[in-house]
Amino acid sequence: MSILTVENLSKSYGRIQALKNVSFSVPEGTVFGILGPNGSGKTTTLGTICDILKPTSGTYRLFGEPASAENRRRIGTLLETPNFYHYLSGIKNLEIAAEIKQHGKEDIDHVLETVDLTKRKDSKFSTYSLGMKQRLAIASCLLGSPSVLIFDEPTNGLDPVGIAEIRELMKKLYREGKTIIMASHLLDEVEKVCTDVAILKRGELIVSGKVNEILSNEDMVEVSAKDHAKLVSVLNSMEEKTRIIDENNLVKVFFPVGKADLSAVNSYCFYNGVVLNHLTLKKQSLEARFFELTNN
Ligand code: ATP
Repeated sequence: MSILTVENLSKSYGRIQALKNVSFSVPEGTVFGILGPNGSGKTTTLGTICDILKPTSGTYRLFGEPASAENRRRIGTLLETPNFYHYLSGIKNLEIAAEIKQHGKEDIDHVLETVDLTKRKDSKFSTYSLGMKQRLAIASCLLGSPSVLIFDEPTNGLDPVGIAEIRELMKKLYREGKTIIMASHLLDEVEKVCTDVAILKRGELIVSGKVNEILSNEDMVEVSAKDHAKLVSVLNSMEEKTRIIDENNLVKVFFPVGKADLSAVNSYCFYNGVVLNHLTLKKQSLEARFFELTNN
């Protein structure tokens, strides 16, 4: 099931067009990264989905339905650091958050355990490290046991230990079956934490899909032919490739960086009795993709 489907979303702030016809879909049970440099429209995308901003045009659906107060209750969001009381303990702050969100207090112990703050639950918030503050913010998102979590740059401003803890926590929540949608400007972070990605550049979607297809350090050639079964068998025997992905009427063929040679693929198929009707170099290396992203 698609948790979130964004269709032709556009958002302008006066003359600034922050999002231009952006469309993507977030499958259930994924860690979906929205990746892009500063100003590419990540926060605007999340703000729109969370109903903080109104889109100029376009729509989105939650859990396959129009967004409603009811389906929003299945989503926990962390777009900016919440205002916790510095002089109160972690647990007291969560009790207040539970009351504000009209959730019961019964899952407070569980969320504290999940974010590994049980031992420090009675310490004042002011004594927490930045990483612990962020983990408390995530604990607050987990109240009411939402199945989907939305985080904007969850590791921003943290030291390496804090960053590692939050990334581990993301992976743990993913293993527990949560769908996580997170914005990040770090390619490395998306590669380490996310299963799926949508890459934005100046408000436009460059590409979206599985991280291991889009950001892998390989070149990819997309081919198709009338005789699909024969094409798959011929490509399987091609020595230069690293792997293939068989997708209904398309085959994605991966090569080490710089080794994808379209004419070599074409002639190999032809000499083995398969006439291609589609042949494209779909993806260049990770470095090339990164350059494309950051080179303005
Ligand atoms: P960052 O990583 O810096 O937060 P981002 O990818 O989240 O960037 P947005 O914050 O969505 O990007 O901004 C997209 C564009 O919209 C930028 O050009 C930004 O300056 C502009 N923008 C965002 N909010 C406003 C606003 N309230 N008024 C005017 N322009 C805005």
